[in-house]
Amino acid sequence: MSNAIIVINAGSSSIKFSLFADETRQLELFLKGQIEGLRTDNAHFIARHPAGDVVGERRWTGTEAGAFDHDAATRFLMGFINTHLEGHKVEAVGHRIVHGGGDFTAPAALDAAVLDRLATFVPLAPLHQRHNLAPARSILASTPGLFQVGCFDTAFHATQPPLAQAFALPAEITDRGVRRYGFHGLSYEYIASHLGELGLDGAKVIVAHLGNGASLCAMDGGRSVASTMGFTAVEGLPMGTRCGTLDPGVLLYLMDEMHMGPRDLEKLLYQRSGLLGVSGISSDMRTLETSPEPRAKLAVDLFTYRIGREIGSLAAALGGLDALVFTAGIGEHSAGVREAVCHHAAWLGVELDGAANARPEDARPEDGATRISAPSSRVAAWIVPTDEEQMIARHTRRLLTGAT
Ligand code: ADP
Repeated sequence: MSNAIIVINAGSSSIKFSLFADETRQLELFLKGQIEGLRTDNAHFIARHPAGDVVGERRWTGTEAGAFDHDAATRFLMGFINTHLEGHKVEAVGHRIVHGGGDFTAPAALDAAVLDRLATFVPLAPLHQRHNLAPARSILASTPGLFQVGCFDTAFHATQPPLAQAFALPAEITDRGVRRYGFHGLSYEYIASHLGELGLDGAKVIVAHLGNGASLCAMDGGRSVASTMGFTAVEGLPMGTRCGTLDPGVLLYLMDEMHMGPRDLEKLLYQRSGLLGVSGISSDMRTLETSPEPRAKLAVDLFTYRIGREIGSLAAALGGLDALVFTAGIGEHSAGVREAVCHHAAWLGVELDGAANARPEDARPEDGATRISAPSSRVAAWIVPTDEEQMIARHTRRLLTGAT
């Protein structure tokens, strides 16, 4: 019987889980699933094998669904997992936690004291942190002996030099922790762990994590030196529903002239802007790319234009560029976005191989990474599928091995 590691990624209205078999050399995914629609009138659970066949499914409606919070959902999931272990024994749980603040610059074992400390960072990530912590608290209460690990989206960026982390604000504000942290760190760390296989050890690389949330990270020798996200995950690129970088004067204007309060602004910046706000149609890149509406095209053009400008900024922070890597839903699957971004980065020496970009699956070797730049390109361009869950499982196993 081999051991298993549970990975939990809890958002505001959903909890995703993955189960990895802890084999001698590798961590093999054998079951994954999610509950969506927590605290709405329609919650839905589904679990699948990696091949896609459904292993379990359930729906809750009305008041039953409304009462289904993160604690209840975690208890349901743990019950389901314990009856679907396929002969494995759970040895640990790894959690994705968005913010480690200034204290947690590496994954950490979770106990009540650590969870209390992490809860003090809720104001730094109000839409995510409390939900990230809820399943860990629930498991600590129900199964106190189970080893739990927190993996932080900010941690990978702890290597950035102080200048890259600073805002030009007075010391009494920066001393409160108001600085640039950076996010998507687990995705970047996973990509960094594969750069050596691409011949990019020691290289200057910009990784574009383009999903519903989107950011860029400048890596020198696999270490983060700058990123587009800052104090919160709303800075930088336009995203599915987030606006990205905005002149702070716009916020003052909206408060003075449109009488918007903090919660109105939060909703505007996080939920009503980005691809959705500009297009007025959808936050989903697939919908926008197939829409005949000019506003859909405008949203996609603004997205790629801003990426192009930020690539220039990060290349300056790196003092050069050897490779550009695309990852996450849009980065891995949208040939159009990749083509436009590479076009904007042509002045840096990026020369796309149009056929490889259009049909990367033709060239894709087993590990999934595909080179999409021409052989003559001075800067290489790659697609590297990300796997944040695998990264969390690896960290969890490493801490577990150290703890036992
Ligand atoms: P999250 O940040 O929620 O993990 P993902 O990494 O799954 O998001 O990315 C979601 C985005 O990827 C959506 O905008 C979706 O439209 C886009 N996407 C997924 N598949 C494709 C595709 N085949 N072509 C274009 N965009 C795609």
